[in-house]
Amino acid sequence: MHIHANYSLKKRNTFHIDVQTRYLVEINKQSDIPTLRSDMKLSTLPWVIIGGGSNILLMNDLDKVVVTCAYKKIKVMKEDQDNIWLSVGAGMSWHELVQYTVEKGYWGLENLALIPGTVGAAPVQNIGAYGAEAQDTITRVQALNLFTGEREEFRHSECQFSYRTSIFKQHYVNKLLVHRVTIRLHKQHAGHPNLMYEPLKDAIQKHYPDANEITSKMVFDAVIKIREEKIPDPRIYGNAGSFFTNPVISESYFQKLVAEYPDIPHHKTLDNTYKIPAAWLIEHTQWQKGRKLKNAAISEKHALVLINSGNATGAEIVELSEAIQAEVDHKFGIHLEKEVIIMK
Ligand SMILES: Cc1cc2nc3c(=O)[nH]c(=O)nc-3n(C[C@H](O)[C@H](O)[C@H](O)COP(=O)(O)OP(=O)(O)OC[C@H]3O[C@@H](n4cnc5c(N)ncnc54)[C@H](O)[C@@H]3O)c2cc1C
Repeated sequence: MHIHANYSLKKRNTFHIDVQTRYLVEINKQSDIPTLRSDMKLSTLPWVIIGGGSNILLMNDLDKVVVTCAYKKIKVMKEDQDNIWLSVGAGMSWHELVQYTVEKGYWGLENLALIPGTVGAAPVQNIGAYGAEAQDTITRVQALNLFTGEREEFRHSECQFSYRTSIFKQHYVNKLLVHRVTIRLHKQHAGHPNLMYEPLKDAIQKHYPDANEITSKMVFDAVIKIREEKIPDPRIYGNAGSFFTNPVISESYFQKLVAEYPDIPHHKTLDNTYKIPAAWLIEHTQWQKGRKLKNAAISEKHALVLINSGNATGAEIVELSEAIQAEVDHKFGIHLEKEVIIMK
């Protein structure tokens, strides 16, 4: 366990917002929690959890205890002829886990390569990309209750996973610290590529036209190539990925919109609603890629990604996001919801 006082979070958030917290504590094991709770300075302040800071926007200095999980071990829990179950410490980098599994030849995480952040946030956010989601492989989540210090365990069916959310995000924000995540992966001979997402299928065909066999490493490499072309590198252009979620609208409202905008891209869902790409809506307002407002800007690469283009404050990024929301609302009658979590 480590405790840091008056700690700058600039290197702990991918927007690189320069704010300080009263304390940052790095938790390794269950018994760290009662020790921290018995410290009067720490126990009287509010506690908030962060991982890699890649889906948050920090607004100001925090008079709080920022809690983060530093436990990073990978353990093999079980193995049969076709599958392997790994328990992974929440503090490990998600991308390093994906890389480790594809190097072993396992199937399951390859489509989720290069997503920033930690393993602990993956079930919280139910991260997803290119036709896969964290919930496809997660079988169990072990969390530590920050109030009681007790360990709580959730089977997959208890995690209430859905689009970019889970029970941890809906009910236990800043109460349960995800400590270990168990995933089930297929061994090399027992798995196959998930190429539901057309651009990924095309990239595989383009890069490996003569391949007899596709491996998870080949899919992993193709995903990285696509992502590097489309998404600005947060180490250079501070950002938190998609700032807004893709809105879902009713069938009747979709019919109205399509009459006016016949080329509006859409995806019909199983319950007859329509998901519209937020990036398309933004690009069809005056908020073009690259446009700036103070020290915040829309990325040149992707309209859904807002970037820190100088020494932006959290308030400047929010100001830009609200200007975009207002325009999309005005033009299409659709409210864009923020995917990024605003932390005050
Ligand atoms: C360039 C870029 C691309 C991205 N692309 C994608 C993408 O393709 N798909 C996608 O789904 N997301 C994407 N994201 C968003 C982000 O990577 C994910 O949301 C990621 O899971 C956040 O992980 P983190 O550890 O940084 O969490 P943080 O941003 O630190 O925290 C996010 C939330 O999770 C909670 N949390 C974090 N760790 C824990 C824990 N151990 N226990 C309990 N709660 C915790 C925090 O309290 C907070 O509410 C992208 C972000 C960037 C910067």
